[in-house]
Amino acid sequence: MQKILNYINGELITPKNNQWLDNYQPATGEVYSLIPDSDADDIALATEAAKAAFPSWSTMPVGERSKIMLRIAELIEEKLPELAKAESIDNGKPLSLATTVDIPRARDNFHFFATGIIHFASEAHPMEDKVVNYTLRQPIGVVGCISPWNLPLYLFTWKIAPALAAGNCVVAKPSEVTPMTAFLLSKICQEAGLPKGVLNIVHGLGQKVGDAITVHKDIKAISFTGGTKTGATIASKAAPMFKKLSLELGGKNPNIIFADCDFEDALTTSVRSSFANQGQICLCGSRIFIERSIYTQFCDAFVEKIKQLKVSFPTDPDANLGAVVSKPHLEKVLSYIQLAKEEGGTVLCGGNQVHLDGEYTNGYYLEPTVIEGLEYTCRTNQEEIFGPVVTLTPFDTEEEVLQMANSVEYGLAATVWTENLKRAHRMGQKIEAGIVWINCWLLRDLRTPFGGMKNSGVGREGGFEALKFFTEPKNVCIKL
Ligand code: NAD
Repeated sequence: MQKILNYINGELITPKNNQWLDNYQPATGEVYSLIPDSDADDIALATEAAKAAFPSWSTMPVGERSKIMLRIAELIEEKLPELAKAESIDNGKPLSLATTVDIPRARDNFHFFATGIIHFASEAHPMEDKVVNYTLRQPIGVVGCISPWNLPLYLFTWKIAPALAAGNCVVAKPSEVTPMTAFLLSKICQEAGLPKGVLNIVHGLGQKVGDAITVHKDIKAISFTGGTKTGATIASKAAPMFKKLSLELGGKNPNIIFADCDFEDALTTSVRSSFANQGQICLCGSRIFIERSIYTQFCDAFVEKIKQLKVSFPTDPDANLGAVVSKPHLEKVLSYIQLAKEEGGTVLCGGNQVHLDGEYTNGYYLEPTVIEGLEYTCRTNQEEIFGPVVTLTPFDTEEEVLQMANSVEYGLAATVWTENLKRAHRMGQKIEAGIVWINCWLLRDLRTPFGGMKNSGVGREGGFEALKFFTEPKNVCIKL
């Protein structure tokens, strides 16, 4: 069986303890590879390698750093079919999605920050005659990047690329649930000539490898994307060590549909924003609020469209939804559907596990599920489910829907559908979320600040925000 290896000091190596974990293929429910069950010893090795690589990587002319990173982007592009296939097998997502979204975005992340760093600048503050302050933005040193399973290579590279571009050396951990494309990235880095130790990828469990990254005294900043609970654990350990922290956490995003919207556009985009990637995108709109005057019309049309979605094995070119990522996750989502029923919800469509034929019988498939009739305050409407489940709730006024939208502990993203310009601006200002889409969803310009407020996170990624996070600003004041 294929063994995934750690990438430390430029070499692909086994974990020191020679312990391994099973890696499951969600489409079949079978173990198809093994991943290192690494621990603090491997993180110590990786951190030493990163420290040794830092002096030359951080002082390398920016143009040269950029060239190596552009080469990595080119190689991701060249190997797109292979990477997309690997991502789809590892995660269960439709191959078409991995081919058109995940891997192109991983390429773009490297390309974007490789070129972005060339344009990165800092401020000068002239004070009075003959006195000037200027800000140096220096790389931090060794930084840790920890990422989740839903968009594996996409989110892994979203952290690594700005960290490297800014001149840091990295110790990174992909999710143990979807390690394969990070392993393939290690090989790409070798081929691209990334100097040894600049990027180190250590595989294994969060409580061991992730924790060892969090508490290692020489890892000076942590960029984490994952669940809110895990974020709190990391913060509780890293904050007393005064580490810089960027936390991108969970969400429970509202999708608000006013009666004056472009109905067809709101309808078709809501199908995507509900169920793309089996609903496993932190930005999916899982709470759909619909103005009462079009509630029935929208519900009927929406449910009609959802019933036509095809749940199938990931390589089926007609698959709209593939498998969810793991058995425990499948069980978690099913338990929330049960909870919704207990809380008085009516399942308008879906609600059940799907059993495909042949080699896919044990895969983790779920029907896209639409539920109505729930209070906005109930657990189903307050807690993150992170699967193919949405709720529909009517509203009467703008004030009412704002109150319902903002009632959750999260504040990641929101979508608003209206043709009324003034209302669009009002909603944009009043919704408690780091990202607000009006009459669109998931349109991403990589220069914009990305992240959440409230329990959805601390700090922002994207563009110069990320480069600022991965550098230490130092004010130099000179009297001439
Ligand atoms: P998770 O928190 O379980 O795991 C994320 C990563 O943290 C994994 O690599 C895991 O191994 C590691 N980890 C787990 N315990 C750890 C610990 N004690 N110390 C250090 N690291 C630890 O999250 P997940 O289930 O992989 O991902 C789903 C979650 O991620 C959802 O809540 C989703 O909303 C969130 N997410 C957020 C964003 C965003 O941009 N805000 C993007 C994608 C996913």
